[in-house]
Amino acid sequence: MSMTKSDYNKIMRTYDQRKASNSQLQTKRLDEVFSKVPELENIHKQISTLGLKAIQKTIAHPSQKDKYAQELTSNLQKLKNKKMTLLEGHGYPADYLDPIYTCNDCKDTGYINNQKCHCLKQAIIDYSYEQSNLKHILAKENFSTFSFKFYSKEKDPKTGMSSFENMRSVHQACLDFVEGFNTSFNNLILYGRSGLGKTFLCNSIAKELLDQGKTVIYLSSFQLFRLFENYRFHKDEEIVTNDDIETIFQCDLLIIDDLGTEFNNALTSAELFNCLNSRLMNRRSTVISTNLNPNEWVSKYSERIVSRIFGYYTQLKLFGSDIRLMKYQ
Ligand SMILES: [Zn+2]
Repeated sequence: MSMTKSDYNKIMRTYDQRKASNSQLQTKRLDEVFSKVPELENIHKQISTLGLKAIQKTIAHPSQKDKYAQELTSNLQKLKNKKMTLLEGHGYPADYLDPIYTCNDCKDTGYINNQKCHCLKQAIIDYSYEQSNLKHILAKENFSTFSFKFYSKEKDPKTGMSSFENMRSVHQACLDFVEGFNTSFNNLILYGRSGLGKTFLCNSIAKELLDQGKTVIYLSSFQLFRLFENYRFHKDEEIVTNDDIETIFQCDLLIIDDLGTEFNNALTSAELFNCLNSRLMNRRSTVISTNLNPNEWVSKYSERIVSRIFGYYTQLKLFGSDIRLMKYQ
């Protein structure tokens, strides 16, 4: 999974904060209990010095190593038992003074044997969700909530296919794209007029891949071009950093929604080419949705984009009636 170093550092900083606040909480508990049960403070000190004492004795008399080790284990156990009994006797849980971890599996390090812990994997997914601007929409719009009932089964005289059949195959192509994401490199361009479900399908793809722990960035073409412009000319208040641009270039999946609605010029077109081309070179997938048909792509974008870039995309045409209108009838 690709993440920028700065994204990763941001996530690891939350682990540092977690460790710090857990350690503060533990200190608070120690203070609280020691003031009520001074004997426990004494036991606590003994436990923390037992190991050191055993080492000192072993250094002085190496031949007695095993004896000291046994002594250490049994003394530790005795003290721990005493501590637990005292704690419970005063109404505290037996582990009340133990170190506190949000994740006991990795002890808040994020790693188990150099492998990412489940908690870190989840943190990365959560972070990607935040970054993809999709959190709320995806709960509603995903493959499991996609409905074919708005697509007519009447055959289109030109193609001999109904919009229902067409949608079935487009939907399948999107599922195939998701299923093959780890094994084959592919890109999609979904085109057709507004209200046919392009954005819904883009959301569904995004959700599946985010749930697999992929980094997905979802931007309307307007947002994408604005980012490019701000990065280059520092136009708005919004500061676009190298990291932001790197994320757009490097994320596992970039989704550009509604390409063609932005105001573009030669320079932004060149930026778009640069981005899409770089993603192709690095085998990073892109999904584009657009209301423009292939003839219009040529007039709106440069030849380089249309012939050299879109040639690497699976083109999925959507047709039928505007489902947004039907939903409210
Ligand atoms: Zn963990």
